Amino acid sequence: MKILVINSGSSSIKYQCFDMTTQAVLATGLVERIGEPAGRLIHRPAGKPQVERNNAIPTHRDGLAQVAALLLDPVEGIIESPNEINAVGHRVVHGGERFSAPTVIDDAVRETIRDLAPLAPLHNPPNLVGIEVAGELFPDAIQVAVFDTAFHQTMPPEAYRYAIPAALYDEHKIRSYGFHGTSHQYVTEVAARHLGKPLADTNVITVHLGNGCSITAVRGGQSVDTSMGFSPLAGLIMGTRSGDIDPAVVFFLHDKLGMAVGEIDRLLNKQSGLLGLTGDNDLRDIQRRHEAGDEAATLALAMYAYRVRKYIGAYFAVLGRVDAVVFTAGVGQNSALVRRLVCDGLDGLGIYFDAARNEARNGDDVREIHADGSPVRVLVIATDEELEIARQTVSVIRG
Ligand code: ADP
Repeated sequence: MKILVINSGSSSIKYQCFDMTTQAVLATGLVERIGEPAGRLIHRPAGKPQVERNNAIPTHRDGLAQVAALLLDPVEGIIESPNEINAVGHRVVHGGERFSAPTVIDDAVRETIRDLAPLAPLHNPPNLVGIEVAGELFPDAIQVAVFDTAFHQTMPPEAYRYAIPAALYDEHKIRSYGFHGTSHQYVTEVAARHLGKPLADTNVITVHLGNGCSITAVRGGQSVDTSMGFSPLAGLIMGTRSGDIDPAVVFFLHDKLGMAVGEIDRLLNKQSGLLGLTGDNDLRDIQRRHEAGDEAATLALAMYAYRVRKYIGAYFAVLGRVDAVVFTAGVGQNSALVRRLVCDGLDGLGIYFDAARNEARNGDDVREIHADGSPVRVLVIATDEELEIARQTVSVIRG
């Protein structure tokens, strides 16, 4: 059983092809800067040299056609015919309230994803293009949508509703949806296995810290609250997004500084967060500056960790009992400093943090960084959203 996973974004396409009999990765790759004068394609077939092409890639259709040609190439390829791909799993950002599980894509599903585009104007349209083009290039493959929002559909209304006039929810579905669901779900399942507990009895707080950041309270294997909301702008401080902010700041920017709504949108989504605080959005650069005594970098790190810590405290209160706090994604997996700033001194919550274990690196997919006897475990787990999409794709086509 071969599954192709496609993540079709606004100007890029990421892909991974798996042999699900062994869960082996057959190829991975990335098409970047679609529609710009200088596009780029990187194709990494397992056991063969990487292919890199630098040329204009005008549309997503062109990009995916090049990917399909590479997958089928007699030298660089990994399949001999398009019908070797049994199914294509698509990452779809917004499933609204309509989708709480992976779904086989038919005309009605495609229509619903299109109807949900106002909720995710930058994401659902390119996701749909990926679905359409993959359907043409792999006509015999079953197309499956795996939604970023689906895992959070188990949140109760007291967590997902906003205290604004009820008609805005009833008529326009303005509520919190949450994102990064595939990652939170994947690390939750890995944590449950590691703890040797049934999923239905596993309570964890999953902390996904990448370019985008979110934190989820998981009770009995199900999401019951999460920090991103109506859009991915809410919650934690991120690379370029502000996270939580008093909405009155928006009125002030408009009324007193004369900023248009589009400018404020860009300000909060693309020019804020770590970038806005320091001029750098990559945490590695900020750590280096902090170590060199840069005060802005030190403050940004303190703010970033403080926000995570505050949410951990809130989610302890939400869950009552917590088996583990799980760190994942680029920063969560790699920054011992951020994990220490977040976890140090939380003994009162039953988190006995072990600074030496936190620093020690080994290649394990699951690392324990709590002290022996800690009532709450602290785990570092490598996320794998593509593998999770492939697994969910297999599970849905097997019914
Ligand atoms: P995305 O949200 O795009 O999937 P990732 O999960 O790959 O992002 O996380 C990207 C971020 O991880 C980078 O911006 C960088 O700040 C951080 N990161 C990656 N490696 C390290 C490292 N060794 N130490 C600290 N931060 C790191």
